[in-house]
Amino acid sequence: MTQTVGSHDHRPYLMKEFISVVEARSIILGQMPVLPPERIVWTEAVGRTLAQPVESRDNIPPFDNSAMDGYAVRSADLLTLPTTLAIIEDIPAGTYPQKTVAPGTCARIMTGAPFPQGADAVAPVEWTENDDGDTVQFNRGPSSGQHVRPAGQDVRDGDLVLEAGHVITPPMVGILATLGYPEIAVSTRPRVAVISTGDELVDPWETLAPGKIRDSNGPSLAAQVVSAGGEALPPFRARDTLESIRAIVEQALDADVLLFSGGVSVGSYDFVKQVLDEMGMELFFWKVRQRPGKPLAYGVLQGRYIFGLPGNPVSSAICFEQYVRPALAKMLGRTMVLRPRHNARLDAPTPKKPGLHYFARGHAFFDETGSLRVRDTGPQASNLYSSMVKANCLFHMPEAMENPPVDTVVQVEWLRW
Ligand code: AMP
Ligand code: MG
Repeated sequence: MTQTVGSHDHRPYLMKEFISVVEARSIILGQMPVLPPERIVWTEAVGRTLAQPVESRDNIPPFDNSAMDGYAVRSADLLTLPTTLAIIEDIPAGTYPQKTVAPGTCARIMTGAPFPQGADAVAPVEWTENDDGDTVQFNRGPSSGQHVRPAGQDVRDGDLVLEAGHVITPPMVGILATLGYPEIAVSTRPRVAVISTGDELVDPWETLAPGKIRDSNGPSLAAQVVSAGGEALPPFRARDTLESIRAIVEQALDADVLLFSGGVSVGSYDFVKQVLDEMGMELFFWKVRQRPGKPLAYGVLQGRYIFGLPGNPVSSAICFEQYVRPALAKMLGRTMVLRPRHNARLDAPTPKKPGLHYFARGHAFFDETGSLRVRDTGPQASNLYSSMVKANCLFHMPEAMENPPVDTVVQVEWLRW
């Protein structure tokens, strides 16, 4: 369904209603800009998104070196065994050899130490005996090149080692250090304002007065923002009045993205859409053919991306995972925007009405044959938040699917935070 709205003093735009999951996601992702990069030091790098390619400016390792503690030898000297050779010097790691290994001689060398001229292999210490400081006896000889690590074996000067768009992992921090990049360009974190709405909400440390509940979406959405690579601004809470919501929106417009929890369905106190509309938001869609999260709304106000997430805690969490996390990934310039999906077989028949796309909270596991199976975590009502904690995955049941029997193949996304 498409309708033109524009009752206020801003230009008319197309508002879609009750669209598919795929269309909703493509509208959002089609609008997200990539934020500009900033430079940071490597101690802050883990979890950030690389915004530049990284080329090596050196060979790694930078010099030929020994793979073992032992003796740098000329392999041709050790064709008859046992043989005793004269030791000309000691080469610990961090020093540089001063002498050339001539026929009949060797150098004592440690793992990682630079390999001397003249030698062509390393005999490990275990192949020798009777090192008296001046000579050592070899009981076994290496082949030419054995136990020598050549310069550039790992990375060559000029190699493209890392590409932009990847999330920086601990091994990537290690390679940045190896390559001599103490500073690096990463994408700026999207700044996200989380706005809880509802007169029933109190803070987690408050005792519950009659009719009140603790605000859980504020803290959980802020945590999701951080785990998705964004920066959560200090929390906002609006009351269920037009004035309160308006005042909070004005403060929150400092952010790149505004996430509203609650107030977007059709209840008498669901004022979020009305306020945003009056302020000139272009509402691109409202309601998605999905469960949970049907009343999801998405629009743009003054260049800020606005998500109206339904208030039920499971709905807000799942809508974040399905729409906001990919949007933030896009803003971060990430190569991987959506979570990978895997086929799994249902481990039990699962209730499903046709018409809406279901995101079920699931427990996925590998059975004794190594196949991936999944079952739901129990009742799936969108207020039952504890099952969100028990789930290790979400699985998809497309619109047309109806009461899938055991062994039906469904797509699973692991919930990794
Ligand atoms: P709403 O979308 O505002 O109609 O809210 C739907 C349901 O979600 C109601 O039961 C609310 O009490 C609940 N809810 C809304 N916001 C929150 C929140 N921040 N934390 C926990 N529950 C909420
Ligand atoms: Mg409400």
